Amino acid sequence: MTDIADRWRTIRARVDAACAAAGRPTDSVTIIAVSKTHPAAAVRAAAAAGAIDFGENYAQELALKRPDCPPELRWHFIGRLQRNKAKLVAGQVALVHAVDSLELARELAKRADGRLQPILISVNVAGEATKGGVEPEAVTDLARDLALVQGIRLDGLMTMPPPSEDPEASRPAFDALRGLRDRVAQALGQPLPVLSMGMSDDFEVAIACGATHVRIGTAIFGEREAP
Ligand SMILES: *Cc1c(COP(=O)(O)O)cnc(C)c1O
Repeated sequence: MTDIADRWRTIRARVDAACAAAGRPTDSVTIIAVSKTHPAAAVRAAAAAGAIDFGENYAQELALKRPDCPPELRWHFIGRLQRNKAKLVAGQVALVHAVDSLELARELAKRADGRLQPILISVNVAGEATKGGVEPEAVTDLARDLALVQGIRLDGLMTMPPPSEDPEASRPAFDALRGLRDRVAQALGQPLPVLSMGMSDDFEVAIACGATHVRIGTAIFGEREAP
């Protein structure tokens, strides 16, 4: 667990350096420690070292882990969410990162129990058939529909480019997401401040491209066991 604290501090320093290199304030980037598959003890170790924001992909795993973690932590749901699991997440997390349909957004709104649920649209900027996420051309229409749903608030966009050894391989996708965000915000006449992009292998490039939220698992918690 001391490894986790050390790795957290290393990541914190690398994010700060990437912000400085991009001429951005360090508080313009939120580090989400992605704790999926790791036990609550790992979350507590990262929290003790200073982590505040945590990301989970599976609704049931989050529900089971959370009671054993410090209550002041902020949780993010970063995985694909099935509609029948929306009730486990709605109103419980700071941000749902991967909304890909109006139906899911409506279900989140319905289940949020009067609380406002902030969400992001996940976008398939790299045109990958299997990854999920909304096609870039469809984002503006979905965003307009979401604006009419009470109980949710669209804060921005997220993407997950295909894995690559080369961090620079993600740059076109990150640039595309930022450009798309700018166009959708203009079309809606509303700011969309959040860009959730960048993972263990490419977060520095993402920060250079304007990421506000980086989602970092392996570089903090170590390798995950195969599910
Ligand atoms: C698992 C996961 C991450 C973290 O990936 P690492 O490569 O371990 O940093 C980030 N975002 C999403 C959507 C994930 O599913």
